[in-house]
Amino acid sequence: MEKVFEGMEKLVLPGSSQQHVSASTLEAAMGWKHSLAVALLVAAVCACNAPSESGLAPIPDGLVVLTFDDGNKSDISFVAPKLVEYGFGASFYITEGLGYEDDPNKERYVSWQDVRQLYELGFEVGNHTGSHPDMTKLSKDEIRSNLELIEQRCEQYGIPRPVTFVYPGWRHSLPVVEVLAERQYIFARRGVGPEYPDAGSGARGLPYDPAQDHPFLIPTTGYAGPEWGFEDLVWAVDQAKDGKIAVLTFHGAPAIEHPWVHTDPEDFIRYMDYLKEQGCTVIAMRDLLRYVDPNVGPDDPYAPIRNRLAKAE
Ligand SMILES: [Zn+2]
Repeated sequence: MEKVFEGMEKLVLPGSSQQHVSASTLEAAMGWKHSLAVALLVAAVCACNAPSESGLAPIPDGLVVLTFDDGNKSDISFVAPKLVEYGFGASFYITEGLGYEDDPNKERYVSWQDVRQLYELGFEVGNHTGSHPDMTKLSKDEIRSNLELIEQRCEQYGIPRPVTFVYPGWRHSLPVVEVLAERQYIFARRGVGPEYPDAGSGARGLPYDPAQDHPFLIPTTGYAGPEWGFEDLVWAVDQAKDGKIAVLTFHGAPAIEHPWVHTDPEDFIRYMDYLKEQGCTVIAMRDLLRYVDPNVGPDDPYAPIRNRLAKAE
C-alpha cells in the first residue's frame, strides 16, 4: 500500500508528522477557517481513543457509516431530527439533478436552506453532483463543473466545501476518481456492484475494508429499498468487524419520487434502534478520518475490485 495520487499527497502540509496527517488533510480540504474546529476534533479523538503510531484510532467492531443520497425532503423533515435523538453522525449527499428543478417549492427535495440546517445540526453535507449525470460519460471538464456547482452552492450558503462524494447512479470510473483526487476530496462511496448483484431495489454489498479498498471506491454494504430489510441490516452490521466497516445507504424515508429505494419511516426507526441496541459507532463518511488515512490506497484503484471478480469466477 503506497501513497496514491499527487493531488492527495499535496493535502499533507509540509512539516506534518504522520501523526497529524488526518488533521492536516481535513484542514487543507476544508480551509483555514475550520482549522480550529479540526484541532478540537482531533484533540477530542485523541483524548478518548489511544491512537496507534499512525495517529489513527483502531477501527472498532460495529463501526457504521450512515449515508443519505439525493436530498429527499425527509432528510430534514424526519431523518436528521431523529438522528440527533440517537446521537448518530451521518452524511447527506446533495444534488440539483433528478426532480430538484421540477420541485420549486421544495416539497419533495431539500432546499438549500434545509441543507444549511443539516450542516448546523452537525451533519456532513457531501457532493452528489450538480445534475446527477452518468459521470462515466462526461469529459474531465464536465466532471469538474458538475462537482463545482455543489461546491459553489455550499459556499453561497455558508456550508463547508464538501470533502466526500457519492457517484450518481453509482456509476464510477478512473477519470472521476482522478478528478476527485485533483479536487482534494478524501472519500467517495459507490454502490454494491460489481461484486454483488444489484436489481435496483435494495441490496447487500461488501463491507468497506480500508486495508484493501481505494478511499474513492468505498462499497455500499447495504442500501435500503423494497428488497432490503431488517435481516439485511443485521447482516450488514455483522460484517463490521475485524477492521471492516459497514456503509449503509438510504434515500428518502419516504422516497416520494423513487419508490424502488424507499424506506418506510417506521422501518427506519427500527433500523436505528437496532444500531443503538448493538452499541454501534455511527458516523458520517468524513469522520472515517479518525480511523482511515485517505492518502493510503492501492496504486491501481480498481485492482481490489478486479481481484475479487477474478476470484469469484
Ligand atoms: Zn443519487
